[in-house]
Amino acid sequence: MSAPTLDRVIDVVARIDHSGELAFMSEPGLSWFGVTSTVQLPTSFFDLLHPVEADAFREQLASLPDTFVIDARLLKGGNEVWANLRGYQLPDARQYLICILDISPWKSDQTALRHAAEHDELTGLPNRTALRHAFEDLKQQGVFTVALLDLDGFKKVNDTFGHGMGDAVLKETTRRLGKLMGANDVLARLGGDEFVMLLAGANATDAGARLTSVLLAIARPYDTAPHNAYLGVSIGLAEYPLHGDDYSTVLKNADTAMYFSKNAGKNRITVFTETAESVDFSINAAIHHGIQEGEFYLEFQPQYNIERRLVGAEALMRWSSRTFGRVPPDKFIPIVEESGLMPFLGKWALRYACHQLRRFHELMPDFVMSINVSPVQFGGEDFDTLVLEVIAETGVDSHRVILEITESTLMQSQEKTECALAKLREHGIRFSIDDFGTGFSSLAYLTRLPVSSIKIDKAFIRAIENPCENCVSDQKLVTAMIDLAHNINLKVVAEGVETEEQFNFLKQAGCNLIQGYLLGKPVSGAAITSLLEAAA
Ligand code: C2E
Ligand code: CA
Ligand code: CA
Repeated sequence: MSAPTLDRVIDVVARIDHSGELAFMSEPGLSWFGVTSTVQLPTSFFDLLHPVEADAFREQLASLPDTFVIDARLLKGGNEVWANLRGYQLPDARQYLICILDISPWKSDQTALRHAAEHDELTGLPNRTALRHAFEDLKQQGVFTVALLDLDGFKKVNDTFGHGMGDAVLKETTRRLGKLMGANDVLARLGGDEFVMLLAGANATDAGARLTSVLLAIARPYDTAPHNAYLGVSIGLAEYPLHGDDYSTVLKNADTAMYFSKNAGKNRITVFTETAESVDFSINAAIHHGIQEGEFYLEFQPQYNIERRLVGAEALMRWSSRTFGRVPPDKFIPIVEESGLMPFLGKWALRYACHQLRRFHELMPDFVMSINVSPVQFGGEDFDTLVLEVIAETGVDSHRVILEITESTLMQSQEKTECALAKLREHGIRFSIDDFGTGFSSLAYLTRLPVSSIKIDKAFIRAIENPCENCVSDQKLVTAMIDLAHNINLKVVAEGVETEEQFNFLKQAGCNLIQGYLLGKPVSGAAITSLLEAAA
């Protein structure tokens, strides 16, 4: 084969001796390496090799093979480039003819291919293949737990909002789960809405306790504009090597346990057992348990009039869970609503708040208590009767009770809601529209229904601060809301007031009541009692 022909298929032809000394390089080879003449060429071929390849290459030469083939990284103008090197020992001298082929495009394809073969395209998570490898790796380190997760309600999201939104939910799920993973844990996607976690070093019991945080993370609303979607997750756990000593068995057992979670009512964790008994780790169980064990309580956030006199408080629910720790109401209330327990918990809150109000009245008879009511409580049977029962039972003055309802309460089953509102209003109970401005307020409701006040949402109050181009219009919006409310004889409460600047603006705009961290955070009933005693 003549050199010119060879040059067309081979990038570099070189000759070296068995110690790596460079004896010759072809013209195309010189230009491939970016050198213009042989003078610039290093004397040793090792100077053209990436340092990490040096030992392997030296060994190759030392064994004096007739031929050799290796893939190695070369240095080309300071950059590393993958190349295929073929060496042929020349008959007379102890020299090698080396043919070098640039394989970097192929190598990067190969890396991309390997990545694609082991990762899920949508979420970028390891797939089945990679999971199996990770499983084998973790086996070297002893005990670990495999958690198989299957989302509850995902099909509904796909059907209702379309596949694009379904994909977005899977990505968001990946993000939420990713945050809960330890450094040595592995998160993989099996496909569809099925995920697997390998929890390094954890037995199934520890894993079960840890994964309660997954239930909470998935229970948070998913932003599937224009509406939120609520999902759950059914989890099955199997421990290596207790529940199997190979990949297929452990995964199959985790799957069995996962189905057990589905069948037992979803949104829970089941540990695999031969008898398939399950420990109920569900949030519903935790809430039931929490109510029985007194883990729920109320705090009261003081409300002040514009002269900064304490006039009332809003009752805010708190859950200090033995399993989950302190869970904010924004997280647990949607779950309680979904689970059907809200009427029960809402009634408890109402009773608790009214009992507390009775005690406050001993110190300040006109103190007003605002109590939040979820839309699902209104949808339930005889909400009005229930409220009146609690009022009668606690002996509290109904004129000092305000129920905070949301715009969505007003939107649903209008007739039923209107009847309940009217009946309660007859008994002196007042209503306030919570989070005013964030929903689809129909001004007609405000005039037609027995509403006595609006609570401007904290998002608007926050925007009052740092007047900037946009905030000017936000300020105007707040002023307009206050004017509108006053024109139809409604009082205005501002919530989330955090600064003097906001307070002064609201005072000037004519706002009636102020609630927020500036004047007081939510505190215990005893703390409100102390405030009342101090004010007396
Ligand atoms: P919400 O009714 O809008 O309650 C006001 C929320 O704003 C409370 O959050 C309160 O702690 C917070 N807040 C008050 N002042 C400030 C402030 O100056 N700055 C900031 N950044 N936040 C302030 P919380 O207690 O976390 O309650 C969140 C939501 O949970 C409530 O929003 C309400 O929708 C719901 N919730 C709380 N308790 C109950 C309840 O007993 N029943 C029902 N149905 N919902 C409740
Ligand atoms: Ca409220
Ligand atoms: Ca609010």
